[in-house]
Amino acid sequence: MEKAWMKALVRRADGRAALTERPVPQLQEPRDAIVRVTLSTICTSDLHILRGAVPRANPDIVLGHEFVGVVEEVGEAVHGLRPGDRVAANCITFCGDCWFCRRGFINNCEHGGWELGCRIDGCQAEYVRVPFADTGLTKIPDSVTDESALFLGDILASGYFGAELCELCPGDSVAVVGAGPVGLCAMACARLFGAARVIALDVDPFRLERAAKLGLADFTVNPREQDAERAVRGLTEGRGADGVVEAAGGADSLETAWRIARPNACVALVAMYEENQTLPLPSMYGKNLIFKTGGVDAVHSSELMRLMEAGRLDASFLITHKAPLNRILEGYRVFENREDGCLKWAVTPWEEE
Ligand SMILES: [Zn+2]
Ligand SMILES: [Zn+2]
Repeated sequence: MEKAWMKALVRRADGRAALTERPVPQLQEPRDAIVRVTLSTICTSDLHILRGAVPRANPDIVLGHEFVGVVEEVGEAVHGLRPGDRVAANCITFCGDCWFCRRGFINNCEHGGWELGCRIDGCQAEYVRVPFADTGLTKIPDSVTDESALFLGDILASGYFGAELCELCPGDSVAVVGAGPVGLCAMACARLFGAARVIALDVDPFRLERAAKLGLADFTVNPREQDAERAVRGLTEGRGADGVVEAAGGADSLETAWRIARPNACVALVAMYEENQTLPLPSMYGKNLIFKTGGVDAVHSSELMRLMEAGRLDASFLITHKAPLNRILEGYRVFENREDGCLKWAVTPWEEE
């Protein structure tokens, strides 16, 4: 690689993000790859880091963990990838060999975790070094666009995980609390697990309208305007939802989630909470609910990519804004404040002025 310096968005020690110049990353370990980023995006987790809500995050790192790109260089122990391959990243770094990885619990990898854009330099830059590249990157087939593949390893994986945790049966009803990016992906994935009826809940009427317009939700409920429990029962023959995905992480969203579940349902908590939550066990006594928790579980990247290739899944609808890396600070502001209906701000390569 001839280029020695690149543009990158760095989290400074004072908690602010700044566009700056960084050396182009080099291979450090035999299982590394260097990827030229062709499309990346901003995630709520990036905002959590800037707010200081992620203790494991290092200062002075390049932010970002959701991206697609082209492999530039691979280490000698990388077997499945070659320079020139188009790839989508997994936001979780994992070795594939440890006790947890061998059992499919890659989030708990003894040698990985949320590394990119958190503990090591991430993707809001021109190039990124990806450790354990064979497990951290998924090849993109020619028929799948960068825009479709962009969310594979984080937002889409989280939505899929939420839907999967609900243990849905064909014909079931599923309620998704939060019609943001993860919630919308959970709605799309619930169909893959056979959901016949998808109910979206959000306090933002605009987000509900979009979920319905995109064809992801069959029914919408705004807990600020109506009694959510009664509304969901009214849509489910009086029982409540067969599965609930909590993807909002708001002050009352956990309560909404368990209230709208029917007895013996699974309630999947995939939201990223900033505060402790309480389970009012006396109030839910007799409902026999099953709670499952987790963040992104990006263990299904190749399956999700196959679904995209087959035209069964496409999360490119999440991209409401797109601009070069030069404008990423504006992107942070617009994304954080949900200005202009922003769901996801996609970042294209730096443009020389
Ligand atoms: Zn993320
Ligand atoms: Zn591992």
